[in-house]
Amino acid sequence: MSRRLHARRAEGVDKNVWVEFTKLAADYKAVNLGQGFPDFSPPKFMQDAFCKAVSGRPMMHQYTRPFGHPRLVNTLSKFFSRIVGHEIDPFEDILVTVGAYQALFSAFQALVDEGDEVIIVEPFFDCYQPMVKMAGGTAVYVPLRPKADGAILSSGDWVLNPEELESKITPQTKAIVINTPNNPLGKVYKTEELQMIADLCIKHDMLCISDEVYEWLTYDGSKHVKIASLPGMWERTITIGSAGKTFSATGWKVGWAIGSGKNIKCLKATHQMSVFDCPTAAQEAVAQGFEREYEVLGTPESYFKQLPAMLYHKRNKLAECLQSVGLQPIMPEGGYFMIADISSVKVDFKDESSEDEAYDFRFVKWLTKEKGLATIPVSAFYSPEHSKQFDKYIRFCFVKEESTMEAAESILRNLRQ
Ligand code: PMP
Ligand code: GLN
Repeated sequence: MSRRLHARRAEGVDKNVWVEFTKLAADYKAVNLGQGFPDFSPPKFMQDAFCKAVSGRPMMHQYTRPFGHPRLVNTLSKFFSRIVGHEIDPFEDILVTVGAYQALFSAFQALVDEGDEVIIVEPFFDCYQPMVKMAGGTAVYVPLRPKADGAILSSGDWVLNPEELESKITPQTKAIVINTPNNPLGKVYKTEELQMIADLCIKHDMLCISDEVYEWLTYDGSKHVKIASLPGMWERTITIGSAGKTFSATGWKVGWAIGSGKNIKCLKATHQMSVFDCPTAAQEAVAQGFEREYEVLGTPESYFKQLPAMLYHKRNKLAECLQSVGLQPIMPEGGYFMIADISSVKVDFKDESSEDEAYDFRFVKWLTKEKGLATIPVSAFYSPEHSKQFDKYIRFCFVKEESTMEAAESILRNLRQ
């Protein structure tokens, strides 16, 4: 028998929904409401900032401070201190990363040990589970459940059961991961819900990894609350953010983790042993973006007001269209995704080879290949144990140009025939 030359941590994590479905969308030149990225440019002030950063000063093209470009960490600290209600030290309490993705990876590597358990709230952004596993931990799942009473129309109707959540906590539980606004559901956690989670974190001495990449995208009066701002939570929360989502520039891959210096110090250690330094010019441009937003926050000029206002209309229009063709949507309170129930569309898949695949995976492949519309199967956001219960939903991304939305809506309307 030949020797196993690969590391075990690389086993069982090779399949990736984004790799698979982004390629499928491209191969079939489908209208793409799949992967979450805007198909329009970042605002002009961000493009100008980037151009300015790369033209001129030589140091913009060289390494910057490994844990975050000074101008960026300074502005992030100024910006978020007043929101969290805690004086954030720019050099101790912040780590700038290659997108929120790397902030998540650094957090799991830095904080999760062999044998630790990490509670993940379902549905969850798919990378949490393999990242916990690669750190040697075990993921333990707690689902958001639709309230039993009546029609389920809003992401706000999906809630955690506090007893169920507490029942999953053991002496090995190191952390809980939450994501608000949630991808793919669009749930925006209310203060009471966050307080319940915070109480459990404090009672059981656990950390909270709070993925808040869609923090500026809330609708219908929903308010994004940072769990780190609740009493006793600053010390035990790692808050993760993304400039890609914040400024519609996902390809810049600038993200960050913010938390108490004691925890961030450990993330810095894993960061300096993997990535070490993030691209300087993109950080400089993001810094300028936050400086501008600091000045205009709360006014109509703020991009953090303009983007959700634009998405609000796209969300409503997509929901109306889905409803009119019998694909019951769950109205998201935040983020830029909407999930919809596909049970009412009867499909003759023809393709016998994929019969043992999850229903939503087959449906999404059919919709992409046969109808030219790319989406994402929602069971990908569940653990293998629970995915079967949620394979009647697919996810639509609505951070797209009007022309893209119209093309998608036209395909959806034709489904009725
Ligand atoms: N968290 C969530 C919930 C996401 O949807 C994404 C995808 N953007 C990320 C993290 C990763 O963000 P980034 O593109 O900044 O790496
Ligand atoms: N966060 C984006 C989404 O959910 C992109 C994910 C990815 O490409 N890894 O669609």
